[in-house]
Amino acid sequence: MAILVTGGAGYIGSHTVKALQRQGRDVVVLDNLYKGHRQAVKDAPLHVGDLGDPAFIADVFGQYSVDAVVHFAALSLVGESVQRPDLYFRNNTAYAMNLLDAMVKHKVDKLVFSSTAAVYGEPHSVPIDEDHPKAPTNPYGESKLFVEHILRRYDTAFGIRSVSLRYFNAAGADPSGEIGEDHQPETHLIPIILQTLLGKREHIEIFGTDYSTPDGTCIRDYIHVNDLSDAHILALDALAAGGSTTAYNLGCGQGFSVREVIRTVEKVTGRTVPVVESPRRPGDPAVLVASSERIKRDLQWNPQYENLETLIASAWQWHQAHPDGFSQ
Ligand code: UDP
Repeated sequence: MAILVTGGAGYIGSHTVKALQRQGRDVVVLDNLYKGHRQAVKDAPLHVGDLGDPAFIADVFGQYSVDAVVHFAALSLVGESVQRPDLYFRNNTAYAMNLLDAMVKHKVDKLVFSSTAAVYGEPHSVPIDEDHPKAPTNPYGESKLFVEHILRRYDTAFGIRSVSLRYFNAAGADPSGEIGEDHQPETHLIPIILQTLLGKREHIEIFGTDYSTPDGTCIRDYIHVNDLSDAHILALDALAAGGSTTAYNLGCGQGFSVREVIRTVEKVTGRTVPVVESPRRPGDPAVLVASSERIKRDLQWNPQYENLETLIASAWQWHQAHPDGFSQ
């Protein structure tokens, strides 16, 4: 029985594939390689194709005895989603239904879904727990929230049980040094800072220094990608044990400002980060910090990288060894 991982060649997907393989589980990867990297999938079968193609999905489900699905495949750029909501609702929401329909047809009844803190929108209170109102401020967050709604209905109607995992800020890399973060274009804070130190960029722009936070810059909750992977495996196990449909936040519960992240990178690397202060990036909430108490309590999730220095050190190891990402 195999676990089908869609988007398994992407950043969080490839780390989860590796974690599953470390446990000796049978994994099959499906990815369109639009953003994912073939080299990120080492020893699992990789089927290259798109969830927009029901015949392709049917072919994969026909070839393997799929026990459960972990669904990462999606577009994930907030800014792009505002410009092209069509792409986000189609790829992230409509195509997820193609996957779900294949699951119904093949009687696969367990799904772990890659959701996002963007389902909450501008927080009313922090830390954000799972009961916080859901009011996404962009099509990306909406496209994921719609899938969460669909999943609840597919449970009632078709018996597909699912766990939606709402990630806060994923960062870091597997300590093996074999896989890490490589987005084209890169928009995330930590890789951009590290690329600056490697001479790939002239400086890092701080987007907004006038937020109502202690140092004026945005505060985020950075969570190591391997801690995210662990949560996916715990969620799969919970579903296998008969667990019901639910959603969990994944974060460390500790917020760091952009300036604190930059200072921590300087401490870890011993180098000075060239900084330019820029205007706010539209749509950025001032503070996003998770409460992940529910998954800690229910599934005994126990993040290993709660220290920002250790997290950054793992990312730095990857970026130093692969300054051009997987293309090197
Ligand atoms: N950020 C920044 N400069 C950059 C990239 C990001 O100041 O070049 C800030 C961004 O405004 C946010 C935080 O860093 O407050 C984290 O941004 P990222 O894009 O990594 O993740 P997000 O919180 O948007 O999911």
